[in-house]
Amino acid sequence: MANAPSPKLSAPLDQGVPPRVRFCPSPTGNPHVGLVRTALFNWAFARHHQGTLVFRIEDTDAARDSEESYEQLLDSMRWLGLDWDEGPEAGGPHAPYRQSQRMDLYQDVAGKLLAGGYAYACYCTTEELDTRRDAARAAGKPSGYDGHCRDLTAEQKAAYEAEGRTSIVRFRMPDEAITFTDLVRGEITVQPENVPDYGIVRANGAPLYTLVNPVDDALMEITHVLRGEDLLSSTPRQIALYRALIELGIAKDIPAFGHLPYVMGEGNKKLSKRDPQASLNLYRERGFLPEGLLNYLSLLGWSIAEDRDIFSVDELVAAFDIEDVNANPARFDLKKAEHINAEHIRMLDVKTFTEACGPWLKAPFAPWAPEAFDAEKWTRIAPYAQTRVTVLSDITDNVDFLFLDEPVEDEASWTKAMKGDPVALLTTARANLEAADWSDAESLKNAVLTAGEAHGLKLGKAQAPVRVAVTGRTIGLPLFESLEILGREKSLARIDAALAKLTA
Ligand code: GLU
Ligand code: ZN
Repeated sequence: MANAPSPKLSAPLDQGVPPRVRFCPSPTGNPHVGLVRTALFNWAFARHHQGTLVFRIEDTDAARDSEESYEQLLDSMRWLGLDWDEGPEAGGPHAPYRQSQRMDLYQDVAGKLLAGGYAYACYCTTEELDTRRDAARAAGKPSGYDGHCRDLTAEQKAAYEAEGRTSIVRFRMPDEAITFTDLVRGEITVQPENVPDYGIVRANGAPLYTLVNPVDDALMEITHVLRGEDLLSSTPRQIALYRALIELGIAKDIPAFGHLPYVMGEGNKKLSKRDPQASLNLYRERGFLPEGLLNYLSLLGWSIAEDRDIFSVDELVAAFDIEDVNANPARFDLKKAEHINAEHIRMLDVKTFTEACGPWLKAPFAPWAPEAFDAEKWTRIAPYAQTRVTVLSDITDNVDFLFLDEPVEDEASWTKAMKGDPVALLTTARANLEAADWSDAESLKNAVLTAGEAHGLKLGKAQAPVRVAVTGRTIGLPLFESLEILGREKSLARIDAALAKLTA
């Protein structure tokens, strides 16, 4: 893919000026995959065009925001490898990057908007607004704010205040259509009756998202706003606000906007933040690799090429452009995510894989005592595991037979494997194995193979009871390498225990 900026993009790129994009989550709850997709597309766009990624924390809602969630956001970005150029910890020319620390700036802008007549005080009570809205609806008229307080005289305001009313600050929308070219969706026009005047500061003086988000985009000189489709309806309002900010000398240009498609979950419903499948932490705990998860999430609305699903983060950056994002809703497909992750696991060098599994080889994931873990055995078996696991957490069950005193008791496996005459088979296999060369998996295989032949069984059937006796399960890593690594003494003892159980 060419690295040259696409000619269709907005002015700043055409002039060769590197873009400035932002990722600006609110620190509420756990990060979810939709949010990660937004972060990823902004990051990839910034890196592709050698631009700047601003990481801004939109924490103006003290009731919902939490410090824990803030820490999680930073931790998630670091884990994913999505580095930011300006923001928390990195600092930058527009610091601070937490909105809770920028309140005086918003107050200042709100004051200028009021003074310039771009905004006005609205004294309507909630009940009044509700009553008028219901009446408008009943009459088949637009039901948004009706402009009641747009042109109050000083006397009217004084009278309201004398009644003890408080006021919010409302932005005055222009009475004309607003048109913009969405980088994903093309030209969009919104008629004025669909965008009523809207609140920007609460009665208690607290500025709202509607104000702080575009004001910060202006002050931080953001050139491209790439965000979820759910925010499309706020764009005409923000463009109008931007125009006011430009007239006031606060903003330079209106950024270009690109709205990323919805992500659909089960039953073709929008994947909601609260959907357990949406939680980033779940993927971390299951042992997705960051590069596997990013590869998959990049396919939610974008593709690198036809018939190509697996690629590195570097390839993604080289190829990514916002114009190639598809406007159609994307479907979250867990099986595909797992498949892609498995491919990324295969691509690791063995040492990296061996180290990456670390967390799943100890508590709270692993059921064996810490001192039972044997790093040498793990290093020997890791290459066999690497070609088989889908997520790193699969490793725990695959190797537990090495570190537990006794194999797990999996009833279903036992019933399935101990068919026919398992006692006869295991007795012969045990005798052959006792005489085999335990430094050579081939020799162990021959021992079981000949035992099978003696009882008219193919290798597959003959090895099943041995596998369940030694590992507890019918499915697992290659058996003879597993036996070799577990060792002669323990393996034979487990076959003895199985024979004892079968003959009890
Ligand atoms: N804090 C907003 C959110 O998380 C940001 C929206 C935007 O990107 O403009 O929804
Ligand atoms: Zn009003």
